[in-house]
Amino acid sequence: MKNRTPTKDLKEQVGGEVTVAGFVDVRRDHGKLIFIDLRDESGKVQIIALPGRKEAHELAGAIRPEWVISVTGKVNKRPEKLINKNEPNGEVELEALSIAVINKAETPPIEVRGDGHDIGEESRLKYRYLDLRRPRMQQNLRLRHKIIKFIRDYLDREGFIEIETPELTKSTPEGARDFIVPSRREQGLFYALPQSPQQYKQLLMVAGFEKYFQIARCFRDEDTRGDRQPEFTQLDLEMAYVEREDVMDLNEKLLIELVQEIAPHKKIQELPFPRISYKEAMSTYKTDRPDLRTDKNDPNLLAFCWVIDFPFFEKADDGSWTFTHNPFSSPKPEHKEWLLKGERIPEILTTQYDVALNGSEIGGGSIRGSNPETIEAVFKVMGYPMEDIKKNFGHMLEAYRYGAPEHGGIAWGLDRFVTILANESSIREVIAFAKTGEGRDLMMNAPAEVKPTQLKELGIRLNQK
Ligand code: ASP
Repeated sequence: MKNRTPTKDLKEQVGGEVTVAGFVDVRRDHGKLIFIDLRDESGKVQIIALPGRKEAHELAGAIRPEWVISVTGKVNKRPEKLINKNEPNGEVELEALSIAVINKAETPPIEVRGDGHDIGEESRLKYRYLDLRRPRMQQNLRLRHKIIKFIRDYLDREGFIEIETPELTKSTPEGARDFIVPSRREQGLFYALPQSPQQYKQLLMVAGFEKYFQIARCFRDEDTRGDRQPEFTQLDLEMAYVEREDVMDLNEKLLIELVQEIAPHKKIQELPFPRISYKEAMSTYKTDRPDLRTDKNDPNLLAFCWVIDFPFFEKADDGSWTFTHNPFSSPKPEHKEWLLKGERIPEILTTQYDVALNGSEIGGGSIRGSNPETIEAVFKVMGYPMEDIKKNFGHMLEAYRYGAPEHGGIAWGLDRFVTILANESSIREVIAFAKTGEGRDLMMNAPAEVKPTQLKELGIRLNQK
């Protein structure tokens, strides 16, 4: 729209004539005077339609909340007694000269004003495009954007490059259940959606990139999800020629500067971030993501901490050994021998470092085993026959045969981190199109059935229900 002025700029235009456009937030009809609060992405302004402007006044009488309109009018200073200091545009109003209806709106099925906390979440997710109109959700997504932009700019300055990795990849046993995608060209074969870019980012290090990052979508098909989502976003990064301290340092600096720049009203409780061993965390706090806040009622207090020295392996339900965090990690240097010889398994500590914030794990990573022997040794401890290791991870073992720098990295759960900075309680409040706790997209109505012809092309026949 030509010459449209955002409502936030009206204060500087007193005495001038402007055109604004947006949603009708509220309309108050006082007979002679009709007031309309118009809402755009930048804020709100009160519009007044006077009977003297016949056409505009008549239209103002007909319009309803959530109609989309444009208004050309004069920016006036409000009379002294009508000034509202609590609103950004509380000192001005727009006297309508002409109004145009861009599109009408039916009465929305959910209230779009207010914070929405009193509306059932299913309705909010079903009508997400309306739910997102509320200022709280607009602010949350704006904050998310700012955080991601800060991260990108910061890492760019530090010499990192963002590299996209595939979303159609191979199913490998990595901890969670994979979402799988059938191949049409090769019936009976399947891609998997990545649980994280873990293997790709390590292969990028083998490829000679030294500082990689990605704002990456990850997919995990888990049953009890609660405040989790089947797809979620990580800040994923990996660095070559580093030790544990280097990765922790970089991330700590990034987190501190990010908070200072994007959320200056927040106070970081302790600097540098305290470091706690897994053993100490479990004995003192009974959790490996302790909430160290000295005042849990303070919404602006951020208590970061690192948890380190996790055991590499733990016993699975069937009595076999499984990794606690990441099969591609390297043990602590002093325990490397034990892993390679398959000795003292329960005592082997991994280079894993987790970063916790106010009782939530917001990130984790490790230094990796950067040679085939270390990776093989991990899977051997877990009882994988060599044949299975080759079948699942042959590409990794082969890649590492051609030489790799030592490397390590981390991934942050970005949704959780934004949730905490936004003072929200669920990650669904900071994801534009969130799914329910059961993994349904109520707006698109997914998952959904597909046509029998689609299944036929894939060579898939469903069991009769
Ligand atoms: N890929 C790991 C995860 O998603 C994080 C890492 O070790 O970089 O938990």
